[in-house]
Amino acid sequence: MVELKISESRDLTRIERIGAHSHIRGLGLDSALEPRAVSEGMVGQTAARKAAGVIVQMVKEAKIAGRAVLLAGQPGTGKTAIAMGMAKSIGLETPFAMLAGSELFSLEMSKTEALMQAFRKAIGVRIKEETEVIEGEVVEIQIDRPAAVTGAASKTGKLTLKTTEMETVYDLGAKMIEALGKDKVQSGDVIAIDKASGKITKLGRSFSRSRDYDAMGPQTKFVQCPDGELQKRKEVVHCVTLHEIDVINSRTQGFLALFTGDTGEIRAEVREQIDTKVAEWREEGKAEIVPGVLFIDEVHMLDIECFSFLNRALENDMAPILVVATNRGITTIRGTNYKSPHGIPIDFLDRLLIISTQPYTEDDIRKILDIRCQEQDVDVSEDAKVLLTKIGVDTSLRYAINLITSAALACQKRKGKVVEMEDVSRVYELFWDVKRSTQYLIEYQNQYMFNEATTIGDEED
Ligand code: ATP
Repeated sequence: MVELKISESRDLTRIERIGAHSHIRGLGLDSALEPRAVSEGMVGQTAARKAAGVIVQMVKEAKIAGRAVLLAGQPGTGKTAIAMGMAKSIGLETPFAMLAGSELFSLEMSKTEALMQAFRKAIGVRIKEETEVIEGEVVEIQIDRPAAVTGAASKTGKLTLKTTEMETVYDLGAKMIEALGKDKVQSGDVIAIDKASGKITKLGRSFSRSRDYDAMGPQTKFVQCPDGELQKRKEVVHCVTLHEIDVINSRTQGFLALFTGDTGEIRAEVREQIDTKVAEWREEGKAEIVPGVLFIDEVHMLDIECFSFLNRALENDMAPILVVATNRGITTIRGTNYKSPHGIPIDFLDRLLIISTQPYTEDDIRKILDIRCQEQDVDVSEDAKVLLTKIGVDTSLRYAINLITSAALACQKRKGKVVEMEDVSRVYELFWDVKRSTQYLIEYQNQYMFNEATTIGDEED
């Protein structure tokens, strides 16, 4: 058995830039999972967002394993955006892996190996490590109602505090102010009281609010031992994915492959050893499995072999939630001559919870365009926005979004500060949408190659 090595590379994987979905910061739901009209970059598509929110909640509560969800709808109706919203709201500790169906055909590995790697990227392992115990005589008390600290203290000198670990309520009030001075006590402070002498010491600030957090160490806890002695114990938690453990322990690849992404195929024996070791750690209480989410876009690009693989992989008890998306109607299942809804075999389709996305209203398009203008830092006049929205309704949302950047460049060229209607009209003439391009092809098809008429015409600019 190889000695398993672990490391953390999460921070490197989440790099943000202005991309198609960079304005999406979550699903825009309230605490009751009701969609807000415009929130976290999300607009409209309320039923689908709510359904996605329910799935996220189930993932967070680890209530379901091996389930699969299909986001189905016409092009540009926000399927990928919703998947991104799910990724943002799922939390950093839960892995979210994504893959486009077409990527399976361009990798230097078998399709099923690529799928296996994607699955294992979506399964997290939380490994707990405890460091040396330091003896002490303190009780940790975290101020849980920070606003009350200064307010109540200045009025009555009394204050009720709650211990985080022992759930005992201490009324320290005047004693604490006396020991530390009124202006030394702030929101989020963590203090210690020596039970015997009653001496109060400030340890630092609470984890969530303080910059002293680093100084205290991430998971510093004060625990009461059976004999009443108090000890300070530090617990370090590593969050890695099964795929990261695979790559690090694969002799042929080594950990640098994690940065280049050039992991190649991983041998089945390595994975078996890792699964056995992780199972041991789970039994010993050292590790827990965190099933995450695997998102496969353009799922109609998968062939029948891939679908059988997915059917089987979902049976595994560590399986993540699989979210797939497609914009196809009834079409051929790749690798067969059969047609099926979305190009997905019926047996696999039967496993899926289907979330349908609907075309946007004019108002939704206007709001999404507003958000994109802000995201790209482009000032657009009211008239130009009305025109952009009209273009979005007549052509597609994507085309209108693309025009924002080019219209901004046109505006810059004429040394303008705000994008006006003339800039939008100019780029609308320069760049065609699908409708106009198709119309042109129909009119001039004789001049193109591979048409019914075989003559090759002059190329137009
Ligand atoms: P396709 O089927 O062609 O892959 P899709 O349904 O995945 O399309 P997206 O790529 O998600 O569509 O949407 C197109 C663009 O519109 C993206 O930039 C996306 O971020 C944005 N968008 C779509 N829906 C919303 C929404 N509800 N709120 C905010 N932005 C959205």
